[in-house]
Amino acid sequence: MTQEYTSDLALFINGSWRSGQGRETLRVLNPALGSGIADLPVATAADLEEALAAAEQGFKEWRMVDVDTRGAILRKAAALIRERAPAMALLLTTEQGKPKAEALGEIMGAASFFDFYAEEAKRAYGRVLVRPTGQRAMVLKQPVGPVAVFTPWNFPVYMLAKKLAPALAAGCSVIAKPAEECPASSSALMRCLLDAGVPANAAQLVFGVPDMISRTLIASPIIRKISFTGSAAVGKHLMRLAADGLKRITMELGGHAPVLVFDDVDLPKVLDVLVAQKFRNAGQVCVAPTRFYVQERIYEAFLTGFAERAAALKVGNGLEDGVQMGPLANPRRPAALTSLIGNATAHGSRLLTGGAAYGEGFFFQPTLIADVPNEAAIMNTEPFGPVAVTRPFATFDDAIAEANRGPFGLAAFAFTNDLRTANLVGDALEAGMVGINSFAISVADAPFGGVKESGFGSEGGSEGLDSYMVVKAIHQA
Ligand code: NAD
Repeated sequence: MTQEYTSDLALFINGSWRSGQGRETLRVLNPALGSGIADLPVATAADLEEALAAAEQGFKEWRMVDVDTRGAILRKAAALIRERAPAMALLLTTEQGKPKAEALGEIMGAASFFDFYAEEAKRAYGRVLVRPTGQRAMVLKQPVGPVAVFTPWNFPVYMLAKKLAPALAAGCSVIAKPAEECPASSSALMRCLLDAGVPANAAQLVFGVPDMISRTLIASPIIRKISFTGSAAVGKHLMRLAADGLKRITMELGGHAPVLVFDDVDLPKVLDVLVAQKFRNAGQVCVAPTRFYVQERIYEAFLTGFAERAAALKVGNGLEDGVQMGPLANPRRPAALTSLIGNATAHGSRLLTGGAAYGEGFFFQPTLIADVPNEAAIMNTEPFGPVAVTRPFATFDDAIAEANRGPFGLAAFAFTNDLRTANLVGDALEAGMVGINSFAISVADAPFGGVKESGFGSEGGSEGLDSYMVVKAIHQA
């Protein structure tokens, strides 16, 4: 099998792609092989200063481009992303590990954000307040200013699109720092934008030492807004940095999604969906179904059916045909999962299938653990990997109480054929997104974001555009 990858990784600053010239580099790994495949240049302090100055100028120019023109450029970017999707998917699978069909799906999903916001920006309406004395007050929405966005390695193209599309549609300039683990696919997305006509100083791309880059960008008075997707720990740290300049923030942080399975469902059909979703992207998904609470009467049948399906998944190099789950994205994940599973079994949980890391790459077996007590670390820590944990429940109230315990509130799911149960469960679950008989909760036209320690602010929908705008009231005598 040929390994297609790029050798020209670079930073994009003030209109030029930059590498070499004495910059340090970071090694990019292929997670299916566990070995290095390219070197990524690290941004210097001077690079960041230049990017900031360009973003300041870029904002002045891009905000003055009329919204129809901005929309046309973003629609062209969407078309280029779709055209280049097969090649981009190869890069994504090679550096991140997910099966190539999932990579293609991620890239198509990314394109949809540019199409949606190309149109949605036209609807950033204000309002007029009419006074009887002839005075008027006008309420306007304006772009917030240059923004810094930080995106993770689990969906390097999709997460970047979710931030770039609304920010650029609103008229903001952007400095993006995608995850250093997956630079080629995020760079390919940036090339689509530039080729579509986004001005070079409106969209820039930097990589490097995350702490140095975030401190520098967030401290700069030029940056007016920060958007971050990643762990709650890093999100809290960035919020503290943002507080010094009272910068606006959007934080898409971790989750620990509960799934309530009521005993009125068609179990084999539901199990097919649950297993496919649990192991999508090897479980490295912030809205991944994690804690499965299953009504007592069907609990044992659920365990048997889930374990059989999980054990039958074809795990391998995501570039190979028929592979349903790839390796984990980096060596930190297998180590973390091994520790969480050991802790769960030490707390008396039953390991029903999987449980082990293997191979030269960062592979991990699809895993199911049953009867996991709340004291086990995995019930309180986002596993971010291919591990499902289960417990039985007796009543609706018990299930809701368990689902809502803990600090996270990103996504929650329920499966039932009873309409009243569906309505009640939708109301009662503490989460930013609830999927009832569905996992399709991340789309361009609806808000996506968490409550509690899963963060705040939304991406997607009109809310996603608003998060890159400020309001101004003009009062006219
Ligand atoms: P991490 O917490 O160090 O990093 C999480 C992300 O934040 C990465 O993309 C990283 O590049 C970035 N980051 C780290 N420090 C930063 C800083 N000072 N400034 C700016 N960005 C910074 O650890 P990790 O091993 O990459 O992931 C650990 C956990 O993070 C996972 O187990 C999962 O819980 C969570 N995570 C969540 C998402 C999500 O989609 N919400 C994505 C990736 C990771």
